[in-house]
Amino acid sequence: MLPPALEAEILAAKLPKFRAKQLSEWVWDKFAGAYDEMTNLPKELRVLLAEELPITPLALVKTTQSGDDTRKFLFRLADGNLIESVLISAPGRLTACVSSQVGCALACSFCASGLQGLVRNLAPSEITGQIQMLQSIQKERISNIVYMGMGEPFANFDNVLESVAILNHSKCAGIGARKITISTSGLVPGILKLIRDPRQVRLSISLHAATDEIRNRIMPINQRYPIAELMRACRKYQADTGRMITFEYILLDGITCTQEQADALARLLRGIRCTVNLIPYNTVEGLPYRRPPLPAQKSFLHTLMDARVRATLRMEKGHDISAACGQLRLQNLESLPSDS
Ligand code: SAH
Repeated sequence: MLPPALEAEILAAKLPKFRAKQLSEWVWDKFAGAYDEMTNLPKELRVLLAEELPITPLALVKTTQSGDDTRKFLFRLADGNLIESVLISAPGRLTACVSSQVGCALACSFCASGLQGLVRNLAPSEITGQIQMLQSIQKERISNIVYMGMGEPFANFDNVLESVAILNHSKCAGIGARKITISTSGLVPGILKLIRDPRQVRLSISLHAATDEIRNRIMPINQRYPIAELMRACRKYQADTGRMITFEYILLDGITCTQEQADALARLLRGIRCTVNLIPYNTVEGLPYRRPPLPAQKSFLHTLMDARVRATLRMEKGHDISAACGQLRLQNLESLPSDS
């Protein structure tokens, strides 16, 4: 909750206002995961709060550690649905990748998250709850947030922006807006609405192909918002906000990772201040795609660089535990191994 909402709850429960401040400090500064940790609160109050005002709507079901510095967390929501979040550590930063929906309606053909469609939107507290849980497990402050887990953030626009407000608020998680990135598969109305939001969050576009012919094949959303319309929205976003844009581009062998697509991409992005993140395809069981060989990946990168488009080839983390881009999928408890 934002501080005014929390204060209202506290006052409604006939408690003194300063309790609200104590609660936020415990949750957001001292990473408390349970009321019992809040030692300066009277015992009876802790019992009461635990019943009346659950500290988070999430329960940790399972943690998976990868060979690199990536960990995946499976959380159960109050209604039994499951979501995943990922923590990625690097020197000087701890990035959380959060989900915005249970499942996803967009059905991009290379992505595990949309294989079984959309179940429902996450509430703001179920998004902020992921950060709260991760910090309380880790007992460490998260420095960066990417809305790149399960779901399409702009299909749940209001709740996502409400969660950003809470995570950004100095009395809550206090994470700088510039350290928060929202990634979209290209929902144009969401991009245009983001222009009007006062917070300076970063925008990332899952472009993945440079021509409608290829993009229609792999991302059904392109039939609704084709590339020209998407790029118009991106240019407007940049003109009105002055902010950089990141374009994500998946490398699928023989489909998106070709010389023609690289040339078309360089032409498409001319005049836009942006970085292209090339993401070599991560294996999703049952899908027909292949990751291109490294020389093909590098050749794509060099075509962009030669055309003076800023680009990086992403070093994937968490692939071994299916925590990498596009590998988060709907799960149900029955399918989990019995040790979890
Ligand atoms: N729905 C939003 C947020 C998801 S971000 C969006 O599309 O931007 C997850 C990123 O991983 C997206 O860029 C997505 O297209 C990409 N992705 C999906 N499946 C992938 C796969 N198998 N390999 C690599 N990247 C993938």
